[in-house]
Amino acid sequence: MASLPPQQTYPPLSAAALEAGPDQVLAVDVAIVGGGIIGLTLATALRSSGLTIAVIEAQTPEQAAARQRAYAFSLTSARIFQNLGLWPLVAPAITSFQRVKLSDGDYPQAVEFSPEDAGTDAVYYGAEHSVLMQALQQTVATASIHYLSSARVVRVETGAAATCLQIERGNCPLTLQAKLIVAADGAMSPLRQQAGISTFGWRYWQSCITVLLEPEQSHQDTAYERFWPSGPFAILPLSGNRCQIVWTAPHAEAQALLNLPQDQFMAELHRRYGSHMGQLKLLNQPRLFPVQLMQSRRYVQNRLALIGDAAHCCHPVGGQGLNMGIRDAAALAEVLIQAHQQGDDLGALTVLRRYERWRQRENWLILSFTDFLTRCFSNRFFPLVLLRRLGINVLHQVRPLRRVALRLMTGRFGRIPQIFGRH
Ligand SMILES: Cc1cc2nc3c(=O)[nH]c(=O)nc-3n(C[C@H](O)[C@H](O)[C@H](O)COP(=O)(O)OP(=O)(O)OC[C@H]3O[C@@H](n4cnc5c(N)ncnc54)[C@H](O)[C@@H]3O)c2cc1C
Repeated sequence: MASLPPQQTYPPLSAAALEAGPDQVLAVDVAIVGGGIIGLTLATALRSSGLTIAVIEAQTPEQAAARQRAYAFSLTSARIFQNLGLWPLVAPAITSFQRVKLSDGDYPQAVEFSPEDAGTDAVYYGAEHSVLMQALQQTVATASIHYLSSARVVRVETGAAATCLQIERGNCPLTLQAKLIVAADGAMSPLRQQAGISTFGWRYWQSCITVLLEPEQSHQDTAYERFWPSGPFAILPLSGNRCQIVWTAPHAEAQALLNLPQDQFMAELHRRYGSHMGQLKLLNQPRLFPVQLMQSRRYVQNRLALIGDAAHCCHPVGGQGLNMGIRDAAALAEVLIQAHQQGDDLGALTVLRRYERWRQRENWLILSFTDFLTRCFSNRFFPLVLLRRLGINVLHQVRPLRRVALRLMTGRFGRIPQIFGRH
C-alpha cells in the first residue's frame, strides 16, 4: 500500500451530505468493507461505543440479503446475537435443533446430541441468511452508522495515522478516511490481496451442493450429519417444515448429480436422505460451491484487520464458517472498545495484535477439526472405518465425551468476549 501524509481531521458527514455529490470526504474511526453478516455484526457491536462507523457494501441491501443459504447457527453465535439485542428480530424465524444425529454411512449406530448434553434448550439453531441479514440491516439502519451500499473500494492508501479509501458509488465518488479498515469482504477479499497478506490452505477434492426441501412428514427439529465415503451429507431443519441440504461429494460426482434430470436427482437425494420423512419436495434449484480450507497468515496489519471469510474459510462439515466469523466480530469489537476507552490508537498494531492472538489460534483449532472430520470419514480405509465406528459407539455411550465434543462444535471453548456476557 502507498503511504499517505499525516492525518488531517475532517468533520464526519451525515448520510444526507454523502448524497450531495463528488469530492466529499468522510472521516470515521472504523470503516468496515463488506456488509455481509460478519461486517454488520461488527457494526452492530460497535454501534453504542462512541466510535464513528462506516460500512461499505458492494451490493444493494436487498441483493446482500437475498442469498439462498441456511446456517447451523451455534449456541455461542446465538448468545452474541442475544447480547447485541438482535435475538427478538431473528428468534421468530429460526429453528432450535432438539436433536443432532451423527452417523457413518449406513452403519446403524448414530451419536445423538440433545439439549441435555449442552445444558441448554437447544443443541444448535437453524437460521436463514435473509433472516440474519434483515435483522442486522434493520439494526444498522436505526443506529448512527454510515451505511454505503452499491459502493466499491477502488483505491487504498495507508498513512501513519489513517487510511484513505477511494470509493466508487454510482457517479458519486467519495473519499473515506479511517483510523482502521476492517476487511469483511469475503473469501476472495480484495482488501486482503491488496494488502499482500498471504494465505495457507488448499482446495478440497470435494464440492458442495445445497438445496432446500420440504419433507412430507415433520422434521421434528432434528438435524443430521451423515458421513458417506464420498463426503458428508447434512440435513438442517428450518422453519415451515423445510430442510436445507448440504451435500458434499467429489467434484465430478457433484457436477454429475447437478446435471441429472430432476427425478433422478431426487432419487439420488432419497438414497442419502433416507425415507424417514416421506416424500421430498424440491423448493429451489440445487447449487454447487467449491470447498476450501484457508487461513490468512496474518489477521492484522497496520490499520487493517481481517474478519470472517476474509480471514479464514473451512469445509462446510459441522457448519463452522459463519460461527467463527461471528466470534471474530465480537472479539474485535471488544478489543476496539477497550482500546477506545483507554485512548489507544485503534489502528495501531499493538492494539490489533490483541485481536489476532485471540482469534487466529482458536480458528486454527476449528479448521483442523473440520479437516480431521472430512479426511477421517471421507474414505473406505478399513482400519479407519473400524476406528471411527468404535468412536461413534463410545460417544454414543459416554455423555461427558458428548459434552466435550459439543463444546467444540458449538464454539463454547476458548475465550468468550466478556462485553457480551459469559456462558
Ligand atoms: C454451502 C455452504 C454452506 C455453509 N454452511 C454454513 C453453516 O451451516 N454454518 C456456518 O457457520 N457457516 C456455513 N458456511 C460458511 C458461511 O457461509 C461463511 O463463513 C459466511 O457466509 C462468511 O460471511 P462473511 O460476511 O465473512 O462473507 P460474505 O458472506 O462473503 O460477505 C462478504 C460481503 O462483502 C461484500 N463485498 C465483497 N467485496 C467487496 C468490496 N470490494 N467492496 C465492498 N463490499 C464487498 C459482498 O457483497 C458481501 O456482502 C457455509 C458455506 C457454504 C459455501
